[in-house]
Amino acid sequence: MRNSTVYSVVVPLYNEELVIDESYRRLKKVMDSTKENYEIVFINDGSSDKTVEKVEKICKIDTKIKLINFSRNFGHQAAITAGMDMALGDAVVVIDADLQDPPEVILNMIEKWKEGYHVVYGKRVKREGETFFKKFTAKMFYRTLKSMTSINIPVDTGDFRLIDRKVCDALVSLPEKNRYVRGLVSWVGYKQTYVEFVRQERFAGDSKYPLRKMMKLALDGITSFSFKPLVFAGYFGGLAFLAGMISSIAIVIKDLIQRTDILSLGLVLSMNIMFFGITLGSIGIMGQYIGRIFDESKGRPIYIIESTVNYKKAGEKCEISS
Ligand code: UDP
Ligand code: MG
Repeated sequence: MRNSTVYSVVVPLYNEELVIDESYRRLKKVMDSTKENYEIVFINDGSSDKTVEKVEKICKIDTKIKLINFSRNFGHQAAITAGMDMALGDAVVVIDADLQDPPEVILNMIEKWKEGYHVVYGKRVKREGETFFKKFTAKMFYRTLKSMTSINIPVDTGDFRLIDRKVCDALVSLPEKNRYVRGLVSWVGYKQTYVEFVRQERFAGDSKYPLRKMMKLALDGITSFSFKPLVFAGYFGGLAFLAGMISSIAIVIKDLIQRTDILSLGLVLSMNIMFFGITLGSIGIMGQYIGRIFDESKGRPIYIIESTVNYKKAGEKCEISS
């Protein structure tokens, strides 16, 4: 069945009551200017503020706007995944609600898509209004990830991107649960390019990505795309074994030559702590992988939809007759 929606704009929302109206206004202006049919899919990721009420109000006056309500907070990546699952468009754009990704850049992405690219990602050439800590950790993370993986995950790009229907279908077909969507987009391949933009200051409210969520995302990124941490753990083990063996032989020889028995307790203790640290660290790294294997093996869905607005049936992907 051919549908007439050309663009789907997917917007994850978590406690964004302060930005939603402005976000809708700017997105609508941009999408109207394309003169083509579109839908904007808001995914409420278990907000506890007035986000839902605000989106519902918008949905009443504008049927191009759709709302998917999660039963709880499943996380940003799950929200994006739901948006892609439900999107009808020939091209799907993922954008944050807080206007850090300027909606106007979507038009440049559309231009590239019309030139024949299947993925157009937004490359942040500058980030405004973010803390030094956020910028530094983000920069470090993107580079570490790049050095660890064999697939080419572009640095300094978030989830702001346009993907073609083909790419969207490929992503939807991937069953993994701990999703690092921007990595998966690189993994599926196709013709990819980028447009540059300056990441703006958040329009209002605070970041919904505390350190805990940032760490989870970073670890999902690394463990989904690289075995290297496990390999490093092995290297550390080998190195520690070598160091321990050499120092033991040296101590024995020294004791034999000097005929003394002066094993320093401090040395023994500190070496023990060091090796203990390496062992526990390695177990921890393995735990990160095993935990994710456990998650996958449970086969639970990535998210649960509690209700939808401007869809015929909750969770059913279809065009509404308006
Ligand atoms: N978000 C979400 N679920 C979460 C955290 C964030 O859907 O658990 C949404 C949030 O509403 C925003 C986007 O993901 O639209 C990016 O979050 P945020 O702007 O807080 O992250 P930052 O830009 O600070 O990294
Ligand atoms: Mg933001």
